[in-house]
Amino acid sequence: MANISGKKSTEYTSTLLDQLKDYQETFWKNPNYNTVLPTLSVDRNVIFQANRRLERFAPYLEDAFPDTKKSKGIIESPIQEMNEIRHFLSIDGCVLIKRDDLMPVSGSIKSRGGIYEVLCFAEDLAVKNGFNSESDDYSDLANEKFRRIFSQWQIEVASTGNLGLSVGLMASTLGFKARIHMSHDATTWKINKLRQNGVDVKIYDDNFSNAVAAARESSKQNPYSYFVDDEGSKLLFAGYATAGERVKKQLSDMHIEVSKNKPLVVYLPAGVGGSPSGVAFGLKLQFGDAVIPIFVEPTHVPSVLLGMATGLDHDISVYDLGLDGKTAADGLAVGRPSMIAGRYMKNKLFGIATVSDQNMFAYQGMLKKLENIEAEPSAVVGIRGLIQSKEIAEIPDTATHLIWSTGGSMVPAETMREYEDHAITIFNQTHFE
Ligand SMILES: *Cc1c(COP(=O)(O)O)cnc(C)c1O
Repeated sequence: MANISGKKSTEYTSTLLDQLKDYQETFWKNPNYNTVLPTLSVDRNVIFQANRRLERFAPYLEDAFPDTKKSKGIIESPIQEMNEIRHFLSIDGCVLIKRDDLMPVSGSIKSRGGIYEVLCFAEDLAVKNGFNSESDDYSDLANEKFRRIFSQWQIEVASTGNLGLSVGLMASTLGFKARIHMSHDATTWKINKLRQNGVDVKIYDDNFSNAVAAARESSKQNPYSYFVDDEGSKLLFAGYATAGERVKKQLSDMHIEVSKNKPLVVYLPAGVGGSPSGVAFGLKLQFGDAVIPIFVEPTHVPSVLLGMATGLDHDISVYDLGLDGKTAADGLAVGRPSMIAGRYMKNKLFGIATVSDQNMFAYQGMLKKLENIEAEPSAVVGIRGLIQSKEIAEIPDTATHLIWSTGGSMVPAETMREYEDHAITIFNQTHFE
């Protein structure tokens, strides 16, 4: 059990901890936002190179995943305006949604990090076996020669679901053996989809944090196993951060100005904190002070908030606080934050809002009813941040708001209908001020 009453715990933190213990919705404002800190090992150049690596792989990806044909092998999602929600919630500035629920391959934000890390490993192996990354055609990686090399290796990852889809489908497509370790929160359709694609799925009767530890151990036993570590991988982080360059281009194509007077406020759902931190980091590189990142977590699993507010990061979990960690947001059901998210976000994250499951369903209903957008429960919580923004003095009326929707298009139609019947009922019963 971590020491949460130690010297880092101020009076402010203890009021906050009481609210968290009580499962109340709250907002934590990061006291270190915009302070100057030493640079860390992932920097502008690492992210720049990650974007270039994904461009080199585009010819391969275009052949491997037909839904990337339109974008010529670049795995990306659109940004759209949400005027109905803007009016409904009386927001002054422009309200946008980033449709990562439509991301090719995994139908979630995990297509950014998971695919990138598998491609890095594949490129490494290929180069060791005579592939020239500067002059050879990446479509050649689909040839028998490379598939045979890849098939000697097993790629393993622990996941609540979507990272498993992203890593598992990319790995098996390249010819790797893939093994996904899943926590008891994993939904049946995600497990089935992986198994149908020849991926070995191991289910633990345990929470995500313990499943990761078990998976890491299992991978260590096998010299031909490569482990994608959701709790600490800098490659995953870099993959997520490639979003920065792309969003900058998309907003510029939409003629949306982003500046200190017209900041971009971005609302990102956080589980372990890896994907939202990577994206926020990538956006900070592009927009600097003009972007204001805010995370949103379930009231039952505020893991990144707890780690950052206490300064204990990965050394504390929501179970230490006595929380049950239970939420219908399977993608956010992560009790212990990542080893790197808190460090990389220390001066870059504006704050974190928490949301009840009840309101999460209301937002899912709101998205469906007002905008006809279908997203999974984890993906919609950004709306809580949007509502909160009205009470944040640093956010001017001129701000542009970007809700990052993180997953949904792979949810089977029948499961989605069940989610939405429930969500629309709750939306109709909810009073929004
Ligand atoms: C994984 C996931 C998140 C959160 O990402 P973390 O890296 O765990 O913080 C949010 N939404 C969905 C749909 C996800 O699958």
